[in-house]
Amino acid sequence: DARGPQMGVTEPLPHRILPVVGIWTRDKDYGAYLRQVERGNIVFGGAAERVSVDLDPGHAKADPARLPVQLRAVARLLPAIAQAAVIRTWSGCEGYVRDMLPVIGQSATTPGLFHAFGFCGHGFQLGPGVGDAMAELITTGHCETPLDDFSIDRFSREA
Ligand SMILES: Cc1cc2nc3c(=O)[nH]c(=O)nc-3n(C[C@H](O)[C@H](O)[C@H](O)COP(=O)(O)OP(=O)(O)OC[C@H]3O[C@@H](n4cnc5c(N)ncnc54)[C@H](O)[C@@H]3O)c2cc1C
Repeated sequence: DARGPQMGVTEPLPHRILPVVGIWTRDKDYGAYLRQVERGNIVFGGAAERVSVDLDPGHAKADPARLPVQLRAVARLLPAIAQAAVIRTWSGCEGYVRDMLPVIGQSATTPGLFHAFGFCGHGFQLGPGVGDAMAELITTGHCETPLDDFSIDRFSREA
C-alpha cells in the first residue's frame, strides 16, 4: 500500500534537545516523534493519519487539517511546542506492507532476484544495516543475520 507520512517543522528555537524523542504506540492519535536540528528548528511527525498518494507522478500532499491532531500528540512530549510557529509541512510517497515489516531476502520465484523494500516508515534507519545484509547475501548466498522473518514467502505461509 502506498501512503504518505506527514511531517512538519517549527521556526528555530534555542537548541536544547539533543536526542530524537518519540513514543511508539498502536493508538495512532498518540504516537509522535521529534528532533531538533542544530539551527533550532524542531522537525516532528507521527500521530496524524497518513495521507493518500498519487502514484503517477508519485506525489503525496500534506493535509493542513491533520496538523492539529499531530501537534496535540507532539505537545504531550514537548508542551512548549504549543507556543512555536509551524513554518512548513510536507509528505512523500512510501510503501507499507500489511504486517509493517520490510521484505528482505531472495525472491521465492526468480533466481538471482533479491528484495529489500516495504520499509514502512523506517527505511533511513534500517537502510545501512539492510544494505550490509544484502551485500553479504548476494555475494555469498547466505547471511549471518537471520532474515527468515522478512522473507517474501511469509505472505503465502499465512494462508
Ligand atoms: C515524509 C517521510 C518521512 C520519513 N521519515 C523517516 C524517518 O524519520 N526515519 C526513517 O527511518 N525513515 C523515514 N522515512 C521512510 C524512508 O524514506 C523510506 O523507508 C525509504 O526511503 C525507503 O527506501 P527505498 O530505497 O526502499 O525506497 P525509495 O527511497 O522510495 O526509493 C525507490 C527508488 O526507486 C525509484 N523507482 C521507482 N520505480 C522505478 C522504476 N520503475 N525504475 C527505476 N527506478 C524506479 C524511485 O524513483 C526511488 O528513487 C520517511 C519517508 C517519508 C515519505
